[in-house]
Amino acid sequence: MSGRWTCRFVGVFTGLCALMVSVDVSAQCVTTRSDQEGPYYRTGAPYRPNMRIPGDGPLLTLTGRVLNTQCQPIPYAWLDFWHADRAGVYDNDSPQYRYRGYQFADENGEYVLETIVPGLYPGRPAHIHVKVDAATTPMLTTQLYFPGQGGVTGLFVTAQTLPGGDMVAQFDFVLNANQPCTAPAITQQPVGATVAVGGTISLSVAGTGATPLLRQWRRNGVDLSDGGRISGAQTPTLTISDAQPQDAGAYECLLANSCGAALSAVATVVVPAGVGDLNCDGVVNFDDIDGFVIAVTGQAAYAAAYPDCEWLSGDIDGDGAVTFDDINGFVGCLTTGTCP
Ligand code: FE
Repeated sequence: MSGRWTCRFVGVFTGLCALMVSVDVSAQCVTTRSDQEGPYYRTGAPYRPNMRIPGDGPLLTLTGRVLNTQCQPIPYAWLDFWHADRAGVYDNDSPQYRYRGYQFADENGEYVLETIVPGLYPGRPAHIHVKVDAATTPMLTTQLYFPGQGGVTGLFVTAQTLPGGDMVAQFDFVLNANQPCTAPAITQQPVGATVAVGGTISLSVAGTGATPLLRQWRRNGVDLSDGGRISGAQTPTLTISDAQPQDAGAYECLLANSCGAALSAVATVVVPAGVGDLNCDGVVNFDDIDGFVIAVTGQAAYAAAYPDCEWLSGDIDGDGAVTFDDINGFVGCLTTGTCP
């Protein structure tokens, strides 16, 4: 705003005016300073935007952005956080990598870390260690500190303690995005499959692109994360064990770095429900009775009640529809636990 008004006053000095306008509109963000890595960094921490362990606290939610020195977001920057537990102790050797994990900022450069307020250990104010890197930047290794507890100028989060003791905090990282970068490209598409209940779904993607490179598998447009039967949700190969009918769907993998993103082709996975398994939980038992009762009223009603399941799993006699003729067969399924 000041640039425009200044230009009206300076009038004919157009060169000066252009210079002033360009200075006026090009915001400058100061590169985040580095701080010592310390002795406790471990490579190999898992993808883990949420580092909380059930039952612990007080909770800390740290949000912010990763920006370049023009204050523009750096999409898909990689952030690797680690900090002490409530007792001030680092997990230096367990396979759980407690309070350690990496994540990627989103397409707007925004990140969210869900964790706990780190504990104190002798000689240090409370702090969170972090490495931040993007395909266009050098890696930053630094630490974040909390207001009023000591620390390094320029590395204090903006924090607010909530009633009850939990904390929300904010910090924007600024990196010098001055390196050339190769955008991701898919070189091998995932291939869909029909997988029997109890089988293993395995989907792979291959691609190129400068690192750090995010790989994110999605099912029906929803990002997947590891846990339970799912592993590799942020790796080239997604694996889902003990396949269930609700695992069926349209799978794709996003490859993204700070220069661009590429979405794989859709791989359609089909997991046919077994005959008699009306609630498609993988077994035929009395829990399927409700589904069968609805199935005999028609396919539409069944689809509304069991959107992830297959109406024809109630077609015990194999005539192409679920009708009262299937009742005797279904009762037989329930008594034996399997359908003929
Ligand atoms: Fe430390």
